[in-house]
Amino acid sequence: AARWSLKGATALVTGGTRGIGRAIVEELAEFGASVHTCSRNESELAASLKEWERKDFAVTGSVCDLSSRDQSTDLMAKVCSVFDGKLNILINNAGTNIRKPTVEYSAEDYSKIMSTNLDSVYHLCQLVHPLMKESGWGSIVFISSVGGLVSLGTGSIYAATKGAINQITKSLACEWAKDNIRSNAIAPWYIKTSLVEHLLDNKEFHDSVIARTPLQRVGEPEEVASLAVYLCLPAASYITGQVISVDGGMTVNGFS
Ligand code: NDP
Repeated sequence: AARWSLKGATALVTGGTRGIGRAIVEELAEFGASVHTCSRNESELAASLKEWERKDFAVTGSVCDLSSRDQSTDLMAKVCSVFDGKLNILINNAGTNIRKPTVEYSAEDYSKIMSTNLDSVYHLCQLVHPLMKESGWGSIVFISSVGGLVSLGTGSIYAATKGAINQITKSLACEWAKDNIRSNAIAPWYIKTSLVEHLLDNKEFHDSVIARTPLQRVGEPEEVASLAVYLCLPAASYITGQVISVDGGMTVNGFS
């Protein structure tokens, strides 16, 4: 049924070569969307594009370091030309982290996390707005974190960027509803990706994560991708301004 399809839709997914972003690129393509993605590593991007071509997915990509404002602007110019000035879906996925006690962060650490996780996300939203208006409908999905909802020892700068994203989600939902643009955020708990594998490889850490998680395991990228795609479907047309956790029940787990 058309309400469960993204046939004809156009999408930009940031950071699509690995982890959650990669799973979202593939799920969007499976649902019929044309997707553009980006990452910093040129050869990894080229290898990914080749693989997607083999699978008959309509995916294009460009190299972009989102922490640079100029490169984000160039990325959007590319997206504009690839999709003829019309974009339906923005998945703000790329993000990074440096874990330290608050007093040990340098000014460089601060600006690296802020520029990648927050400045670029905000800037991309500004840049996609005219393309979404032009296309008639839009869905923005932010990949936030449960670390933006509760304190989890993820590092206070990362937590601040994700908390800010949760609020931007609500602001844009209200401000851009009149343009038929919806805005939602997904807040995952631990998902098996390159961002956190070094942490999860530590058995003690892994066990401490599992102990807090009612479903007794960490998540897979596909389990985040399914919600991201759902939020873009016509089937989700009355859902906007929400921050939804994909966390195996972690955030509702009290004393047990
Ligand atoms: P990964 O590190 O596995 O993948 C990140 C992707 O983003 C890669 O494709 C990477 O490619 C790209 N990327 C990173 N920095 C930039 C940049 N500056 N410019 C362009 N592309 C970039 O991360 P995850 O899949 O785990 O994380 C995705 C999102 O999910 C992040 O926002 C993260 O905060 C969030 N999240 C993850 C959780 C987890 O447990 N994994 C939990 C909660 C939230 P390249 O390095 O080549 O640029």
